[in-house]
Amino acid sequence: MRLSKGFVAVAAAAAVVLGLTACTDSSAPAVDVETPADFAEGSTMARLADAGEITIGTKFDQPLFGLANPDGVPEGFDAEIGKLVAAKLGIEADKITWVETVSANREPFIQNGQVDLVIATYTINDDRKKVVSFAGPYYTAGQDLLVLDGNPEGIESADDLAGKKVCTVSGSTSEKNVAEYTTDILATDTYSNCLEPLRTGAVSAVTTDNVILAGLADQNEGEFEVVGETFTEEPYGIGLALDDTDFRMFVNDTLQDAEDDGTWDELWEKTAGKVLDTPTPPTIDRY
Ligand code: GLU
Repeated sequence: MRLSKGFVAVAAAAAVVLGLTACTDSSAPAVDVETPADFAEGSTMARLADAGEITIGTKFDQPLFGLANPDGVPEGFDAEIGKLVAAKLGIEADKITWVETVSANREPFIQNGQVDLVIATYTINDDRKKVVSFAGPYYTAGQDLLVLDGNPEGIESADDLAGKKVCTVSGSTSEKNVAEYTTDILATDTYSNCLEPLRTGAVSAVTTDNVILAGLADQNEGEFEVVGETFTEEPYGIGLALDDTDFRMFVNDTLQDAEDDGTWDELWEKTAGKVLDTPTPPTIDRY
């Protein structure tokens, strides 16, 4: 088929417009800020809704879940979940104060009231539940291994780690779990700090949740690969003050609504879903 010059020009213009529309859509808020409900006096929801602002701790160096953009604002699935909760309180995304939390300071930041919520690839477990409470889970990851592209040391599972040095992060479940497989552990404060030791051969593998490793592999194309043999279950929760049950139930309701009305899928697909398949969200544990 021969196309006239005019048609090509119109089609090209249309493509530009479509491109711009797609761009606008992906950056548009996926959740509408709601008029805050009449929250019970004295509740955390009432305090935050009245203030019109909220402070949320998240990771700043984990692509797909929480990665600071050039303006210092984190982007990813965890950041979207934070905006979702804020919106239910009537709080606009630009009224969220994002605080960088690393694995080891999540509990103290909640306990000291430095943040209202932590949404940071944060595994729910019984030890942590002694000092903070968790809404969720809103996703279930599994611990895995990251190795150099081509897997030169032939590490196929955690069982192959005996006698090998592995990098992970202090205060994480990953650090605890991997100790069953090797005693030679380099513990640092963020997973991105583990990449250089892996590149130089100072360690044979990096270990943490599969989705964090997938984000790092995607960010550094051609350098690393995820082994793909998970050896734990890591249900991600939203950390909040211990025994603030009303707030925990409110966040649980918010997550449940998002799962039921398709918002969860939408938030996943515009972030982590660019690299990972869309899973069925886990059942919320209203303990
Ligand atoms: N999900 C695990 C944890 O909460 C590992 C990932 C992380 O450190 O954020 O400890």
